[in-house]
Amino acid sequence: RGRVMLQVRVAQLNADHVLVLAEDKTEAKRVETIRRDFTVNVSHELKTPVGAIGLLAETLQDAADDPEAVRHFAGRMSQESKRLAQLVQEIIELSRLQLEGSTHPASVVQVRGVIEEATDRARVVAQGKDITLTVGGDLDTHVYGDHNLLVTAVRNLVDNAVAYSPEKTNVGVGVTQKGDLVEITVVDQGIGISPEHQSRIFERFYRVDPARSRATGGTGLGLSIVKHVAADHGGDVTVWSREGQGSTFTLRIPAEVKQSPETSISEDDDYYDDIDIP
Ligand code: ADP
Repeated sequence: RGRVMLQVRVAQLNADHVLVLAEDKTEAKRVETIRRDFTVNVSHELKTPVGAIGLLAETLQDAADDPEAVRHFAGRMSQESKRLAQLVQEIIELSRLQLEGSTHPASVVQVRGVIEEATDRARVVAQGKDITLTVGGDLDTHVYGDHNLLVTAVRNLVDNAVAYSPEKTNVGVGVTQKGDLVEITVVDQGIGISPEHQSRIFERFYRVDPARSRATGGTGLGLSIVKHVAADHGGDVTVWSREGQGSTFTLRIPAEVKQSPETSISEDDDYYDDIDIP
């Protein structure tokens, strides 16, 4: 199954014995590649709005004596700078999630509060598009986790549902407790996602239609953040969708305290220093 990377170290113990240590570095290499790709992607994604703002500023200088043009270009500059601010915020959020993992303080979180906060921004956009946004289900249930991270995750799903839906449709947020899991579903009647894209939308910076996504203010990081938050809580996020009919995103979060899994073996090169060689 693909290439395996081994780091081999050899030590002569005595005249008759040689100790060979082989360490599987495949995962470490994979993580390193992901980090490098992330840096390249971030630089690329930042260049677009920064470049646009620069160009718009130059155009603005040339059009200084035309008030209509000034208004137009200043408006576009403001839009691009908002996009840039959102991008930077999401990059920081994602990096923090990746670096800190599950070290965030966990407490009992009421789902109603999370949903209320997570839908506030989408309500305004929904109103403008005549989209009916409904919330229902076991709202008084509780999960164990981080309130702010959960708000971020649900907010990304609800914002997307409204952004990728046409006018006069419905978006529903439902909460169901199933055993020791709480399911938060976000259902829309929007443009949907084809099967080949469904498997990739949780990747960083992946967008089905970059032009459309940019127009809706998307950065391509939202679902990647949702995936990290879900994993961080010992849960997951899945999608069901049909093109032209709509999408349903399901976020599952454990309803009760879970023991954190044993930390994995350190990838530190000094790991074997602790082993007594006879
Ligand atoms: P973006 O910031 O571009 O919305 P996301 O990571 O949130 O990035 O989503 C990745 C891509 O998945 C989007 O660009 C969009 O193409 C698709 N997508 C996400 N949510 C929906 C949805 N509810 N309906 C249709 N497409 C969606």
